[in-house]
Amino acid sequence: MTRFHDELLDLATLEAISNFCQTVLEPQAAATDREARFATHHMKALSEMGIMGMNLPVEYGGMGLDAYTLLEAMANISGTCASTGSMVSAHFLASDSIKFGGSEEQKQKYLPLLASGKAFGAFALTEPGAGSDPASMTTRATRDGDFYHIKGTKHFISNAGAADLIVIYAKTDPSLGGKGISAFVVERKKGGITTGKAEATMGLKGAHAFEFSIDAKVPAANRLGEEGTGLRTAMKTLDAGRIDIAMCSVGIAEAAYSAAAQWMKTRKMGGALLSSYQGLQWILADMATDIAAARGLCLETIRKRMKGERYSIEASMAKLFASEMAGRVTDKALQIHGGYGFTQSLPVERYVRDARIMRIYEGTSEIQRNIISRSLLAD
Ligand SMILES: Cc1cc2nc3c(=O)[nH]c(=O)nc-3n(C[C@H](O)[C@H](O)[C@H](O)COP(=O)(O)OP(=O)(O)OC[C@H]3O[C@@H](n4cnc5c(N)ncnc54)[C@H](O)[C@@H]3O)c2cc1C
Repeated sequence: MTRFHDELLDLATLEAISNFCQTVLEPQAAATDREARFATHHMKALSEMGIMGMNLPVEYGGMGLDAYTLLEAMANISGTCASTGSMVSAHFLASDSIKFGGSEEQKQKYLPLLASGKAFGAFALTEPGAGSDPASMTTRATRDGDFYHIKGTKHFISNAGAADLIVIYAKTDPSLGGKGISAFVVERKKGGITTGKAEATMGLKGAHAFEFSIDAKVPAANRLGEEGTGLRTAMKTLDAGRIDIAMCSVGIAEAAYSAAAQWMKTRKMGGALLSSYQGLQWILADMATDIAAARGLCLETIRKRMKGERYSIEASMAKLFASEMAGRVTDKALQIHGGYGFTQSLPVERYVRDARIMRIYEGTSEIQRNIISRSLLAD
């Protein structure tokens, strides 16, 4: 529908990705959802396009994109196939954890593998008893010479069933709460990880999330940063992740808006096109305004990120507003389609289901409000 100003964007790259979305993702998006096919079936094509490394600098094998182009591309991918967008986003959480928390040696070792798609990544913070409050996690990493013994259970971990490299957050010093959490790159092929079946979910059916248990000896060299810096790395990673989710929400909302506008221009009822009814025109106007407002928040957040400033609060605001907006817009798009919108013959009901998780993962709307209000009330 719309996009950031042309002068901010790498237009050639965006056009190539847009073409990829239309020719590779779009034809399979409905089946990916209907059959709950893990979106890894696109992995080869995504890797060849460079998409698995879009978030990484060229020196680590990435595309070296500016954040405007990266996030515009993510909106495009998610608007076409939100399951694929989510699978790619979770992969980015793994490589971003290494980018933000790792040593130069660790970056050289792992990032080119993740950028090329030769290694598939997952980010494991959440546990059955520690979702909104990761500081209460119980997964333990106990030092044993040159190794850590990591033991515990992680829950709702996107990509975990197929990931080669999982960034696992675990407590090295439980007495310190959140300040006792450390991050580790765990290579699945070394053993010790047992994954269950993918969760059956209402949406994003092609982006599989798993529970897994770990009982493994991991080299101390795989710890990212000093002991106790894990939560800081996770929060930095989630700042980038939240603006990503905000733009994925924008992408889904724009796909729903476009479908609704097109429907109004072609569907006749009572002898007139739906587009002639003012009641529906106003709904469409509200949808477009809502999307534009979310884009404005995203733009401001990305601007701060590009200037190297802290953008945690802005990322929370963008994620909160854009994810809630995607819920409103996709629901209105379905209403404009009438009974057809409720059927699986059109993609609108998929947009509604896929948009729902955006208010939950990478911090629920309530947690974003906590983050924002804490900063407003701080002395
Ligand atoms: C499909 C899917 C994919 C996911 N992928 C990943 C992944 O790749 N990696 C990963 O680490 N995690 C992942 N998650 C986990 C996700 O981030 C958590 O589900 C989310 O953070 C919420 O945690 P919870 O489910 O334990 O809910 P809870 O924390 O139990 O929250 C329940 C309700 O209480 C509210 N609440 C909780 N605490 C507060 C508070 N202090 N103030 C106000 N309200 C509060 C919440 O907002 C929510 O409404 C995924 C989840 C899903 C469903």
